[in-house]
Amino acid sequence: MARTDDFIPFHRAYIDEQDIAEVVSALRSGWITTGPKVAEFEREFAAYVGAPFAVGVNSCTAAMHLAVAALGLAPGDEVITTPYTFVATSEVILYMGGKPVFVDVLPDDANIDPDQIERAITPRTKGIMPVHIAGFPVKMDRVTEIARKHGLWVVEDAAHALETQYLGRLAGRWGTVGAYSFYATKNITSAEGGMLVTDDRDIADRARILSLHGLSRDAWKRYTSTGSWYYEVVAQGYKYNLTDVLAALGLSQLRKVEPWLVRRTDYAAAYSAAFSQHPALVVPTVPADTRLAWHLYPLRLRLDRLRIGRGEFIERLRQRGIGTSVHFIPLHLHPYYREQFGYANGQFPRAEAFYEAEISLPLYPALTADQVERIADTVREIADESLT
Ligand SMILES: *Cc1c(COP(=O)(O)O)cnc(C)c1O
Repeated sequence: MARTDDFIPFHRAYIDEQDIAEVVSALRSGWITTGPKVAEFEREFAAYVGAPFAVGVNSCTAAMHLAVAALGLAPGDEVITTPYTFVATSEVILYMGGKPVFVDVLPDDANIDPDQIERAITPRTKGIMPVHIAGFPVKMDRVTEIARKHGLWVVEDAAHALETQYLGRLAGRWGTVGAYSFYATKNITSAEGGMLVTDDRDIADRARILSLHGLSRDAWKRYTSTGSWYYEVVAQGYKYNLTDVLAALGLSQLRKVEPWLVRRTDYAAAYSAAFSQHPALVVPTVPADTRLAWHLYPLRLRLDRLRIGRGEFIERLRQRGIGTSVHFIPLHLHPYYREQFGYANGQFPRAEAFYEAEISLPLYPALTADQVERIADTVREIADESLT
């Protein structure tokens, strides 16, 4: 049995000396909050995703909130989204007094089902918020077609999907707005941070103004030689600006996004090779015409072939020195959503079935190939000893 000091955590950020040097240099520059580093990060990020406009903010949640605010979401408006996500996606609709309308997901990837979107549209529907779970692409060709037909906007939650391409187009670049996360566990991190990208100049301008108290100009420019002390408040805004210290880390990490993706892709292939023939394990399927971001490796258990449940499986992994997680507890099962909206068990059976069988295995560039092999062997060992 593995010793505690051999414990492989579910996630560990990869911070190298270059990252540290970039942060130190931002600290030494004399300007630590929103300034030239944020502007540089926005430019490089926009180039990476091929977007004309990118607005750096302090989280993906903020990016999504600013998106729906800039799009004019108003009390009573409905937005169709998925229960299979982190609570942030739905929460930003509530911030604006809107109503999140959940529809069920596809059984193979837990992504929102376009057919169900179409059936949920009412005269109050204003937009659609799809989420690319684990980096697996939502069928955005279908979603954008439905949106066009019904005059709806689309805000993509691309928190997991920075590098995902589907039908040759990047996740986050199909909708009206794409939102990305640089939270500590994401594919690249700035500790906390997010980015809003769009092709629409008005939305970008509005989001930028709202991101800093509704001020008419960038605050940092007020203190430079070209700036002035004068500003105007032109809207009720928020305090969502990204700092230069964190943007320096994000920029440094962005430069490693491609080699890290190669490593995660190799590790995911190693997991799938180890599990694909096992009668109690279901490996994720890589769809055609896709480059996957591999944010997570969502392994599923065939519970009818096992004598133990998912919780016990996770516990045995932990006892043998392997940390895992579960993505996600469907939102309609949480107390707030049950009580506030009357959601109940059984309402989104595909989301529930995926959730009950899912275990997210460690998948990050700080892992070694030996650790990946040990994780794969341990998963197989537990599945073998519990087989019916
Ligand atoms: C992490 C995450 C978010 C929120 O990102 P923050 O940057 O922490 O606000 C939103 N949606 C999904 C699917 C996530 O996993």
